[in-house]
Amino acid sequence: MVMALKLTIELVPSTSWYNNMRKVLSTQEWDKVRKKSYEDYNHKCGICGASGKLNCHEIWEYDDQKHIQKLTGFIALCDLCHHVKHIGLARIMADKGQLDFESIIKHFMTVNACTRKVFDEHYKEAFEKWHDRSRHQWTVDFGDYARLINKGGSKI
Ligand SMILES: [Zn+2]
Repeated sequence: MVMALKLTIELVPSTSWYNNMRKVLSTQEWDKVRKKSYEDYNHKCGICGASGKLNCHEIWEYDDQKHIQKLTGFIALCDLCHHVKHIGLARIMADKGQLDFESIIKHFMTVNACTRKVFDEHYKEAFEKWHDRSRHQWTVDFGDYARLINKGGSKI
């Protein structure tokens, strides 16, 4: 049985790495979105509540039948929670000696109050899903946020 986890891994399909809001908005527009997400979460991590440096994380929903990915919102995340979300990148950084991978795993276990076994299973499942999704091309739906694009000078 799968436990409901507070902090989960969300890997973006490799075929979709360049489909993100940050890329299609001007720096000024992205800054507005980013700062609003920090205010929405009272300048704390939206998952673990840590304060300090925050990252604006895009929340995507994947329709595995139609291969449509939809942007459903933004959440302010601390560095550790953000590294868990993009754990593939964290792994690469850890291999280069830029971060301690064990501290990411420890954070996952603390926030979810779970064992290493739960992490290992979730990690494996996340990568299986990622491999499967990366075999497809995805149509991007920016949802309610589409109106932000092309406003105030976009990069495209
Ligand atoms: Zn956090």
